[in-house]
Parts: sequence; structure tokens; C-alpha cells
Amino acid sequence: MSKNAPEAITALEVTPSQDHGTPMSVKIRERILAARKRYHANDNIADFIQPGELDLLLDEVTEKMKGVLESMVIDTENDHNTQNTARRVAKMYLKEVFKGRYVEGPEITEFPNAEHLNELMIVGPITVRSACSHHLCPVIGKIWIGVLPNEHTNVIGLSKYARLAEWIMGRPQIQEEAVVQLADLIQRKTQPDGLAIVMEASHFCMGWRGVKDMDSKMINSVMRGVFLKDINLRREFLALIPRKA
Ligand SMILES: [Zn+2]
Repeated sequence: MSKNAPEAITALEVTPSQDHGTPMSVKIRERILAARKRYHANDNIADFIQPGELDLLLDEVTEKMKGVLESMVIDTENDHNTQNTARRVAKMYLKEVFKGRYVEGPEITEFPNAEHLNELMIVGPITVRSACSHHLCPVIGKIWIGVLPNEHTNVIGLSKYARLAEWIMGRPQIQEEAVVQLADLIQRKTQPDGLAIVMEASHFCMGWRGVKDMDSKMINSVMRGVFLKDINLRREFLALIPRKA
């Protein structure tokens, strides 16, 4: 009997769930695993969610959130303030603050660089809102993006940088990884000679809990292409960013 047990488990893992009682999250996870993709907190999984399924996932998260409130011994039946909290929190996670995990990236039209722009261009400050993967506490800050185009670079509208940033930041993130993800995305879309991103943010997990330091900020940057090689260009970019110390 024990000889057959491992086989039974394997079969369960690879058979896609057809059963209607199977939680939505299980079905989505099976598709991700079948495609051998990663599903970390800051990964986008929109490719594995079919139309209408996000609402079923919302129902599932609502039920689980109810369980969390129950375990925290909060009387959600009689406390009118928390009666719909489970639903609100689930909706906030899936459809607002972590939307960048569950929806496709913004449609961005790229244009050829008709004017042959080749001067340093800086976009920012763009306000960004995220949450840390460790505590799901808000991370709120600003980013500046420096682009050095060449004649083959695609040009995107200025507001599009903010939309790309919003999509990347709308996931539980780690600031260092968030800027790298954003840099990869902009690099892929526009193919500039150089790309630089600086992010400065307040981490509420340091102000609200932990060391309770309200003033500390984390600053980090990524430099790509000519920004890595050309120290003067890097200096010019950093000097043009009007950061308040
Ligand atoms: Zn944290």
C-alpha cells in the first residue's frame, strides 16, 4: 500500500482540477506550474487568469480574510465597522494596490524617434505606491527616470512612464527589485542607449511598526547602458534630479 502512495500524490499534482469545488487559486496555480513560470509576490500572473476568474478569486480571498478576522477574535457579526472589512480588504488587494499582479500591462504605443532625439531626458518625479513583500505595508515615494535615446530608440509619451511604473509597483515589492523590473520593462519597450532610474521611498513598515522611524527613506538606483560607462552623464542626471535631502 505504501508503495503506491507516492504515485498517487504525483498524479494529483499533475492532473488539472476540473472539479467545480476547486478553489480558483488552485486552478490558476496549476496553470502557472504547467507553464513552469514563477509566481512570486512581484510577478505578474495575468496570462494565467481567464476573463471572470478574478472575481472568483476575489470571493476566495474574501472568505480567507474573514477567517483572518475570526482568528484575530474580531466580532465581524456585531461590529458594524468590520462587517464588510474582509470584502474591502480582498478588493483592495486584488483590484487596487496589487492590481499589477493580476492585470495585463498597460497598452503603450511606441513611436519611432522621428526627431532623432539624442539628449538626456528626465521624467519625474513620478509618485509611486507599492507595499513591501515582507509586511504588506505601504511603500510610497517618487521615482525619476533618465533616458538617453538614440535614433533607433522608440519614443513613448511622458505619461506612459507613470503607467508602466504604476503597473510594476502595484505588487508586493522589494524596492531594489521594483526598480530593476521597471528598468527591464522600459529597456525592452524603448531600447535607449542609456537608462537610469532613481527611487526614493518611505517604508511604512519602518514608520508604523519596527523601529518606528517616520523620517527614514530608502533611495536606490539602477543604471543601464551609457549611464554605467559615462560618469559625466551619470553626474548630470543625478544633479538634475531635484531631490529634497
Ligand atoms: Zn516591510
